Amino acid sequence: MHPQSPLMGQMMNQPLLVSGILEFAARHYGSSEIVSRRVEGDLHRYTMRECHQRARRLANALHALGVRMGERVATLAWNGYRHLEAYYGVSGSGAVLHTMNPRLHAEQLAYICNHAEDQFLMFDVCFLPLVEAFAPHCTTIKGYILMGSAAQMPAHTSIDNLLCYEELINAHSDDFQWPQFDENAACTLCYTSGTTGNPKGVLYSHRSTVLHAYASALPNVLNVSSRDTVMPVVPMFHVNAWGLPYSVPLSGAKMVFPGAALDGKSVYELMESEGVTFSAGVPTVWLGLLNYATEHGLKFSTFRRTVIGGSACPPAMMNTLIDQFGVEVIHGWGMTEMSPLGTTGGLLSKHLKLSREEQRKILQKQGHAIYGVDMKIVDDDGKELPWDGVSYGHLMVRGPWIVARYFKDEGGDVLQDGWFPTGDVSTIDADGFMQITDRSKDVIKSGGEWIGTIDLENIAMAHTAVLQAACIGVPHPKWDERPLLVVVRRPGQTLEREQLLAHFEGKVAKWWLPDDVVFAETLPVGGTGKIQKNRLREQYRQHLLK
Ligand code: ADP
Repeated sequence: MHPQSPLMGQMMNQPLLVSGILEFAARHYGSSEIVSRRVEGDLHRYTMRECHQRARRLANALHALGVRMGERVATLAWNGYRHLEAYYGVSGSGAVLHTMNPRLHAEQLAYICNHAEDQFLMFDVCFLPLVEAFAPHCTTIKGYILMGSAAQMPAHTSIDNLLCYEELINAHSDDFQWPQFDENAACTLCYTSGTTGNPKGVLYSHRSTVLHAYASALPNVLNVSSRDTVMPVVPMFHVNAWGLPYSVPLSGAKMVFPGAALDGKSVYELMESEGVTFSAGVPTVWLGLLNYATEHGLKFSTFRRTVIGGSACPPAMMNTLIDQFGVEVIHGWGMTEMSPLGTTGGLLSKHLKLSREEQRKILQKQGHAIYGVDMKIVDDDGKELPWDGVSYGHLMVRGPWIVARYFKDEGGDVLQDGWFPTGDVSTIDADGFMQITDRSKDVIKSGGEWIGTIDLENIAMAHTAVLQAACIGVPHPKWDERPLLVVVRRPGQTLEREQLLAHFEGKVAKWWLPDDVVFAETLPVGGTGKIQKNRLREQYRQHLLK
């Protein structure tokens, strides 16, 4: 039987809009607290209900400023309550929130602003000098909104149309009905880091954002509930802080925003004073926190669970968190183009009887696809590879929160047969656990064979004298490329090249052994907290040719 048209379901057809999340949170978890370390240094606290009120004031204010459906309003801000209000006030009213990364250079910010055709820019007080530097090059911005009070407005500034956030929203009532519109309408815009070429915009829709929020709160993913206190360390200015500004309010949890104070001491103290149970961040941030706690012999009294992603979580860091601090580690993988979550790590019931070492090997993988994300690995010719945990190839994904094309069609068609090529190389095992071998542009091609750099870095970082390690491919006269290890020693530790190379013996095939080790004071870190391997490759290009 093949009916011409299906029998339609008869349920309400309510569009999935982000305003619905805040409206729900204010109504059902109205007393949930939101605590923010302000850039001024003090702590601000209020409730979900007050956040909803102020977001509606902002929506009214933006309307009065002439911001209309689909127009872009940019933010340049740390994680905090005003930024959260912008998440909902801007997108909820039908405009598009464009989050910008303050770690970018002034020229890059001007490029992104002009490309996005931003109408207004909201920014934290501390970014005034940065905004003054690139504002003269912005061609579409009608006004700048300083996210502070009247007392924080500068006496002198080169910015023409500078408005005060608190004055602006206080001049408007909270009497605002969130408009209902097509759930496929644009919601937020985030540019990729653009390590090569110009950054490209990823334009999330309300539907993609709400579906991502639902899925990411699931027990196998972030497992957020109304009994949690969640601290997003991962920035709201990049990939929507992994969706936490949406998944946490819909779960009713308390939120704690660290603002600009991301050093180990500040993060530790805020976690303890606010009773943080769950947090998310990139490995470089946790390094600071763990070093601080270890050096001072501290324990966490409430911190129980963390998601680490953005780059591979070194096994040594995972072990420290679990064994020394009793914190459960969920390894997460994703990217700007995926809203960003794609997979999360964890154990299946059948793994519970395995040994500790075998369990760790599984937890170390980037994990299982989240329902909504489909993935596969293919070879250079696009042929699908088996899920055997050994075959590795280009990782492809598809799903309702994965990019279909970049903003303004930059880069043309990005999909291959309906799949998005992630640029990552990975294996997938028979249970569906994905493990990243490398980024395709970082993988080392030695004599036609591939060497994955993440494995080598993980081994180096398991050495007690190593603080950080990056493995890069550098030109080699015979093998095209060979691995070079760039290492930062732990303070006060001595470690020589031979000792570190000896530590690799028996852990990898001989031809994977790094050709050399260089010691550095620091490693270059980019705007999203990741080690910039392209800069290291440039710096050490001649290393094996000399
Ligand atoms: P960019 O750093 O260019 O802004 P994203 O922030 O979107 O890009 O980062 C996406 C990339 O980060 C992924 O394609 C992958 O290479 C890397 N990545 C993210 N999470 C992990 C992880 N858990 N393990 C290894 N690599 C990861």
